[in-house]
Amino acid sequence: MGDKVSGSVSTSGPTSLAILMDSEQLEQQQLATSCGYSQHMQQANLGDGVATARLLSRSDWGARLPKSVEHFQGPAPYVIIHHSYMPAVCYSTPDCMKSMRDMQDFHQLERGWNDIGYSFGIGGDGMIYTGRGFNVIGAHAPKYNDKSVGIVLIGDWRTELPPKQMLDAAKNLIAFGVFKGYIDPAYKLLGHRQVRDTECPGGRLFAEISSWPHFTHINDTEGVSSTTAPVVPHVHPQAAAPQKPHQSPPAAPKV
Ligand SMILES: [Zn+2]
Repeated sequence: MGDKVSGSVSTSGPTSLAILMDSEQLEQQQLATSCGYSQHMQQANLGDGVATARLLSRSDWGARLPKSVEHFQGPAPYVIIHHSYMPAVCYSTPDCMKSMRDMQDFHQLERGWNDIGYSFGIGGDGMIYTGRGFNVIGAHAPKYNDKSVGIVLIGDWRTELPPKQMLDAAKNLIAFGVFKGYIDPAYKLLGHRQVRDTECPGGRLFAEISSWPHFTHINDTEGVSSTTAPVVPHVHPQAAAPQKPHQSPPAAPKV
């Protein structure tokens, strides 16, 4: 089913996660619900938050095709939260779509990876943007790329808390993933800094997710304390020059 999420190319418009939870045919539902929002609100079965969470396909935000797609068997035992640092937070859907394209450009064109590194992006508009999708090997967290869902909350969340609609969308995406069997019901929630020497997902956001269900205290950064990790710029589509110009695709991103 993960390939259906990541491989949709012919639909447009946001899709309610609540409807998708009721559906065995994701693409059909995307088509069926692309005409408006009102019917989405009638389908909620996991609470009000889910009713307002909407998923945009790759084609919606103008994604370039991946160079290749490698799947892993689900359900994913880990969910890893990131911030983008750059691009900055976006509040309109057109701006968030551009942010997704900028991140894909940086990852795919400059770094030479197969695709945008993350499984999903969350915008300040409260929308969920499909990146690689579920059960597709990502490029966002070394050693975890083939067993996790990588969710980037677009923006710099070192000192500011993401707006409520972003946090709700992330939670709803996780709930959706569990409901559909993409994510293990006993999943472990981690911040990127717990598995790599990075300030990501930003101190404020990390403090926030530390209070979420399934947050797990581990430190897999090989001796680097998560509380003393240096501030490392995350992603900047224009300014961040790769230190290794021809870094191979499987290499772990610093993002
Ligand atoms: Zn990160």
